[in-house]
Amino acid sequence: MKAVCWFGKEDMRVESVPDPELLSPRDAIVRVTSTAICGSDLHLYGGKVPSMRKGDILGHEFMGEVVDVGRGVKNLKTGDRVVVPFPISCGSCHYCKTERYSLCDNSNPNAWMLEALNGFAGAALFGYSHMYGGYAGGQAEFVRVPYADVGPKTVPGHLSDEQVLFLTDILPTGYQAAEQCGIRSGDTVAVWGCGPVGQFAIQSALLLGAERVIAIDRFPDRLAMARDVSRASDLVNYASDTDDVVETLKQLTGGRGPDHVIDAVGMEAHGTDAYSRLESGKQVLKLQMDRATALRQAIQACGKGGTVSVPGVYAGLIDKFPMGQLFAKGCRLVGGQTHAHRYVQPLLERIERGEIDPAAIITHRMRLDEAPHGYSIFQKKQDRCIKIVLTP
Ligand code: NAD
Ligand code: ZN
Repeated sequence: MKAVCWFGKEDMRVESVPDPELLSPRDAIVRVTSTAICGSDLHLYGGKVPSMRKGDILGHEFMGEVVDVGRGVKNLKTGDRVVVPFPISCGSCHYCKTERYSLCDNSNPNAWMLEALNGFAGAALFGYSHMYGGYAGGQAEFVRVPYADVGPKTVPGHLSDEQVLFLTDILPTGYQAAEQCGIRSGDTVAVWGCGPVGQFAIQSALLLGAERVIAIDRFPDRLAMARDVSRASDLVNYASDTDDVVETLKQLTGGRGPDHVIDAVGMEAHGTDAYSRLESGKQVLKLQMDRATALRQAIQACGKGGTVSVPGVYAGLIDKFPMGQLFAKGCRLVGGQTHAHRYVQPLLERIERGEIDPAAIITHRMRLDEAPHGYSIFQKKQDRCIKIVLTP
């Protein structure tokens, strides 16, 4: 089969590789009908995530048709059309039983690698390095789905692939980011990053009762999508509108700061001040894994008693963390990989009711063969690229 393989920093290739096979009774094989490139894949593409090996198959946003099932999988049959959440979860450990699927204790055979880094390991992820389990991903014609009795969910035939594909990751991720803020009706929420995750965080914050959502980015096309598609009420272009985002947010909120803040940027934040430049240098020299400009601003801007919600991915220790501010304002900090399984059904219902139209953020449709070009334009934010869907 054909698959999108990682060969090194900014070196993706579409290769012919062996078809996957059932390895356990709880596996299924899915023929991929649609897959996408996620902002998280850019951290792999940029060489920011350790434990990648040449030839690794990427992709953790995918859906398709079940073509083979192990004898232990009773809830699926050949021919079912499924979406597959990006964390791989056993369904029976302490964390899965409490619906915290991305913290699964059993799915990652290489848990020791993450434990060496962080002390603990969460769930394995599809196509996301050896420290996250070394499982092949779904930017391919076929994929092996472990614990197939837990992850895949069948989707109704009247919804198109484009309407349901993002249930696998970015839609639940934006939703969880907003949900964990504990928004009360009338609140103001600020969202850093108008990529796909930011777009769904904005939409979700509004669905959950926010009165205003302030969207922050530097790309006009992404800000325009935040306004026109996601319905953000205020836009801040941090490159052209202000040289002090925190102060601007204070002014926009009567001096109080946003009630809650969401960092939908993560470890590769862009920044132009001296400290951001220093951090970029330290990342290149591997003295620091993350560039935390957006996170710092979010903590500084958050109003008293608010939540700092962090769907953006971080990998290691960061310097100059404004702990005193977080403490003085009584703010709550919460992040992590999304417990995607938990949200598939409720968000599917919202899609069916027309409350969310996930397909509206798609800017590019390509064949799987064109994935290397897709990675390049998505990373460089060229050609107004915001979200790419690939079809094998
Ligand atoms: P993306 O790269 O398309 O979007 C990131 C956006 O942040 C860009 O529009 C960029 O211009 C903007 N940005 C960069 N620096 C900024 C700054 N200083 N201030 C404001 N905006 C800034 O990626 P995406 O797909 O939207 O993903 C966003 C983040 O969410 C990534 O870190 C990704 O890894 C993470 N993610 C996490 C989960 C999870 O489970 N927690 C799941 C999916 C994605
Ligand atoms: Zn992702």
